[in-house]
Amino acid sequence: MRVNIIVSYVHRTLTHDVIQPAQKQACFRYPFFSYFMAPLNQSKTFKDVTCPFCSLLCDDIVLNNQSGGLTIRQNGCPKAVRGFQRQDPHIQPTIHGKESTLDEAIAHAAEILGKARQPIITGLGTDVSGSRAAMSLAEITGAIVDHSHGDAAVKNIMVLQTSGWMLTTLSELKNRADMIIFIGTDGHSNYPRFYDRFVWQQDSLSGLKKNAREIVYIGNKLKTLKGISPDGKKPTVIKCTDESLGETVSVIRTLLNGNDITSKSISNRKLSDLKKLSGRIKHASYPVFVWAAGELIPAHSELTIHSICELVKELNKSSRAAGLSLAGSNGGVSFLNVCTWQSGYPLRVNYTAGYPHYDPYNYATTEVLGKTEADAMLWVSSFEADFIPPQTSIPTVVLSRPSIKNALDAEVYIPVGTPGLDHTGNLFRTDNAVNLPLKQVRQTGYQSVSDILSRIQDRL
Ligand code: SF4
Repeated sequence: MRVNIIVSYVHRTLTHDVIQPAQKQACFRYPFFSYFMAPLNQSKTFKDVTCPFCSLLCDDIVLNNQSGGLTIRQNGCPKAVRGFQRQDPHIQPTIHGKESTLDEAIAHAAEILGKARQPIITGLGTDVSGSRAAMSLAEITGAIVDHSHGDAAVKNIMVLQTSGWMLTTLSELKNRADMIIFIGTDGHSNYPRFYDRFVWQQDSLSGLKKNAREIVYIGNKLKTLKGISPDGKKPTVIKCTDESLGETVSVIRTLLNGNDITSKSISNRKLSDLKKLSGRIKHASYPVFVWAAGELIPAHSELTIHSICELVKELNKSSRAAGLSLAGSNGGVSFLNVCTWQSGYPLRVNYTAGYPHYDPYNYATTEVLGKTEADAMLWVSSFEADFIPPQTSIPTVVLSRPSIKNALDAEVYIPVGTPGLDHTGNLFRTDNAVNLPLKQVRQTGYQSVSDILSRIQDRL
């Protein structure tokens, strides 16, 4: 009976595609020991784990792996709990909704992308290695590349390209900013530990007292409770519609430049609030203006970001100030960097002509699919299982965190590991200043995006 079990275990191990290559090798060399090998997930506590589920990349998570199930013990947030503690189903790759081997799925994906005259590689929720592999595949197949957060990223890029900006880092905000002005974002809804880690923390290298910061919100329907200091000081809230954010920032700029405002579109009360705020900004040692391009309404976001960046530049003529862009979760900052250093351009690039052609508007995924310019799509989402690819009738290859829904809808579906959970990797933080290493904290056997894309490329 023992022999039967060993044979069955070794057979399952060698034929099952989701087993790690190293384990396969070990089982092949030492079949007897394979039966006694440690289970894929032993109980273990991991410290200083980097969380990959938003671009703050908190690197102080303590979590426990109990027989493969992850539990956050310290320093999580609801988003991290969802990401780490999700029980991913054990599923096989599929072709047209039917289970296949990984080899068959890779071969079919290569066939789709190899035949396509204009493929698009998008979503791109992956780490640095996955982004590099995607760029390499795009070059070989003549594909367009875009990211799921491309619309927001492009708004920032356009401002950077046309007029430049002066940004700070999360560390500098934590240590030096005595005034933080949130514009169109509360900094909390999409980045849950922003205040705990960077605003109301105990220590500050520059000796800034934790209650000393002044918090200001400009916008509409922002959740401002997190802006109350530990000793109960309330933040300043200046309400304005999403559409008038750019105008409000421009008014502050005008007042800071010593000019008067006579516009009838601004009420007397609001004008007097803005005058008071301008005075306080002028006297702050280091005001930081925070925005999140993805939370601004698209039609106005570029103008608003431009106004903020010009305001910061003007303040720096006589004192010190900086901007901070909250952006690039789902591997967005990493892909932007990789795309830039591989192609020479930030997002959105097309390799059809054999060289990278940059067009931030016409190569947007929605544009390309809407005009039926692509004839195959590769969608990558290794952090979010439920990040559904856009609807399209063209052949679609999906690489995502294991998801039964995605498996049913795609022509080829390949479940992949999540960076920072199933394999090691690297990601860039929102401020672009730090690249953080990701740990492997469990063993599901799902391969990385980088491995799968490389195997697809090898088949072309
Ligand atoms: S704030 Fe972001 S990076 Fe930090 S634990 Fe929550 S999801 Fe993870």
